[in-house]
Amino acid sequence: MEKNYPLNQLTTWKIGGPAEVVYWPQTKEDLSTVWQRAQEAQVPVWLIGQGSNLLLPDEGLPGLTLVTTALRAIEWGEHTVKVEAGYSLARLAQEAGERGFSGLEFARGIPGSVGGAVMMNAGAHGGVMAPRIVNVTALWPDGTVKKLERDELEFAYRFCSLRGHAWVLEVELVFSPGDRKKILQEMKENLTNRRLNQPLEKPSAGSVFQNPPGDSAGRLIEAAGWKGRSRGGAQVSTKHANFIVNTGKAKAKDVLALMEEILKDVQLKFGITLQSEVAYLQREARDARHDARCTMHEARGTNRSEQSSQND
Ligand SMILES: Cc1cc2nc3c(=O)[nH]c(=O)nc-3n(C[C@H](O)[C@H](O)[C@H](O)COP(=O)(O)OP(=O)(O)OC[C@H]3O[C@@H](n4cnc5c(N)ncnc54)[C@H](O)[C@@H]3O)c2cc1C
Repeated sequence: MEKNYPLNQLTTWKIGGPAEVVYWPQTKEDLSTVWQRAQEAQVPVWLIGQGSNLLLPDEGLPGLTLVTTALRAIEWGEHTVKVEAGYSLARLAQEAGERGFSGLEFARGIPGSVGGAVMMNAGAHGGVMAPRIVNVTALWPDGTVKKLERDELEFAYRFCSLRGHAWVLEVELVFSPGDRKKILQEMKENLTNRRLNQPLEKPSAGSVFQNPPGDSAGRLIEAAGWKGRSRGGAQVSTKHANFIVNTGKAKAKDVLALMEEILKDVQLKFGITLQSEVAYLQREARDARHDARCTMHEARGTNRSEQSSQND
């Protein structure tokens, strides 16, 4: 347990003030117990995976911030895997590929945890998490732990119905039998593609806006003239207009200002309202069930499509 811990060390954007207390639960039971105790003491609780899709406030977070990265138990089966929420998605994809298990080729370059990937229904290169999911074991606000089957959950473009309601502890995934060499080659190509098209050398949270139906947020932002423009230490990447990079000392307020301006400008020029893809944890959202309350532009119905083939 760490007190007054700099949150910028917990996100890929390297942004965020101090957390009152940060704790890395070592087991699922540990996480549930800590959650219960915090509830009893009426302490706000926040949950973070690898922090690769997160904007955290400059003022920091009150209460207890839980980080899932120590929850890494894994059990392989016959074309299945049971894996805890904190396991690295990219590592899981690579290990599945080594076994000749097909289905996570798209995920090799996505830098998040398995729990975060389920919550975001992460996807790229035409693939998403949802079709791989057999069941999800989750912790609910009243302290109960329940396993839900795939058909009890709703998934859409960067959306899972558990979001804001429960925390993912463990997931079971299913794969198709595949050709090891082919799978690994596809992953290699996807990684090369990312290196060429994304500013991976600078801190970011990946794509900041979702792709609207039939179009790409990056194309719209570039066409509106935003490539390379900055506010404070936040800059629209010159390589990929849907990435906002931290040039060194970016604050959350710089990113929010840039997002707000882009949103208004794209709306004005093209009549399209972009939706935020990144989660913004706000200090005011003291109820932990609002972990992903993104008052800017949380994903809503209109542009959800589970089969969206657009890359991030
Ligand atoms: C360079 C780069 C490239 C990226 N490319 C892609 C891409 O191609 N496709 C894509 O979809 N995403 C992409 N992302 C975004 C990100 O990697 C994914 O959204 C990832 O799945 C987030 O996982 P995380 O563990 O980092 O979640 P976090 O950022 O830690 O959290 C995201 C949200 O999920 C919640 N959450 C996290 N873990 C849990 C849990 N166990 N239970 C309940 N809620 C939880 C958090 O509270 C938060 O609201 C990219 C990011 C970067 C930096």
